[in-house]
Amino acid sequence: MSPRRVSILGSTGSVGKSTLDVLAQVRASGEFSFEIEALTAKSSAPLLAEQAIAFGARIAVVADEAALPELRDRLRGTGIEAAGGPVAVVEAASRPADWTMAAIVGSAGLAPTIAAVLHGATLALANKECLVSAGELFMSEVKRCGTRLLPVDSEHNAIFQVYDFERPNSIERIQLTASGGPFRTWTQAAIDTATPAEACRHPTWSMGAKISVDSASLMNKGLELIEAHYLFGTPPDRLEVLVHPQSIIHSLVSYSDGSVLAHLGSPDMRVPIAHALAWPARLATNSARLDLASIGSLTFEAADSARFPCLGLAVSALAEGGRAPAVLNAANEVAVDAFLQGRIPFGKIASIVAETLETAAREAWDTPATLSQVSELDEAARRAANVFLNE
Ligand code: NAD
Ligand code: MG
Repeated sequence: MSPRRVSILGSTGSVGKSTLDVLAQVRASGEFSFEIEALTAKSSAPLLAEQAIAFGARIAVVADEAALPELRDRLRGTGIEAAGGPVAVVEAASRPADWTMAAIVGSAGLAPTIAAVLHGATLALANKECLVSAGELFMSEVKRCGTRLLPVDSEHNAIFQVYDFERPNSIERIQLTASGGPFRTWTQAAIDTATPAEACRHPTWSMGAKISVDSASLMNKGLELIEAHYLFGTPPDRLEVLVHPQSIIHSLVSYSDGSVLAHLGSPDMRVPIAHALAWPARLATNSARLDLASIGSLTFEAADSARFPCLGLAVSALAEGGRAPAVLNAANEVAVDAFLQGRIPFGKIASIVAETLETAAREAWDTPATLSQVSELDEAARRAANVFLNE
């Protein structure tokens, strides 16, 4: 069998590094042979060059052109191609690959991820913002191209593993579990003035900054409800959130006969990544094994949408459909970025998202019918959110 060609979009991030870690285990065990086609990053040239050399990538690309000279320097004499700029990232994603990991954060990942969808090969999807911004268009491209879409987000990977694709009508509801984030037990006043360091201190998962803040606001779970709606075609009223602080059960699917199928695993992204890499087979990896006896108890509670208004905003955007999810996502990206830069308090994230959604409704912004219209909508929402940031 010829080696599988693998590309990783966003290889220097949390999911990207975990993917390379699983691939290193595959290489050591000789379970299957693979070659790395493309690795991409935003601007971290030193790490990207190190990864490209270690894995013998054909091309390494930085989205930020200012980082290209350093990338070139570090790759000189290795035979590895270097490129820079957002268009070069899309071109890298378009190069032939059998398996692509889409792990860029934010709607910046939409164009490269769609480029990978067009291969009609396998796409392991971590970038949830793509589905939130362009769910219907994204899924229709997946269908048109015959792409095998494998969810990597742990809840969606869990659902995928216990979902009866032959009998979807027998599914009564899907519950996505949420750890509750670092502020689960905090008062409203303490949450409103939390610092970026506090927001990024996730109790169970180690992740990039943006998704950590989204987990603290519960926006992440809201984005995941929208993601699940598009991935599995589940009506919004059959999707629920269940707070489960230990992050051991990743999702539960309830069937019409009263059976509930849940997926369990240690909170380690290498587990769903390994699943997506080997599917439908199973890899032997060294991820931490689940030891329920030492965990002792698993607990559950309802999500508190009063202290975590971002969850309610996402639920409403999902129910409204049309332009709302893309507007929600863009405004949230602007607000989270401003929060991480210390420009706004944590409590203002939800109000910026709410105000941007209200603007879109009041001005009756169009629902995008093409991917380029999604980008225009994304930009319009960012402009509106930026105005609210400075108020
Ligand atoms: P991260 O911030 O750690 O990494 C993001 C990657 O994208 C980096 O390689 C970065 O260089 C690249 N990138 C950022 N902006 C870019 C741009 N404008 N153009 C091109 N590349 C850019 O993020 P992460 O935590 O690895 O998350 C990646 C995606 O996976 C997100 O959509 C997140 O919601 C999703 N996800 C992450 C986890 C997790 O455990 N980290 C779990 C589930 C889903
Ligand atoms: Mg998740």
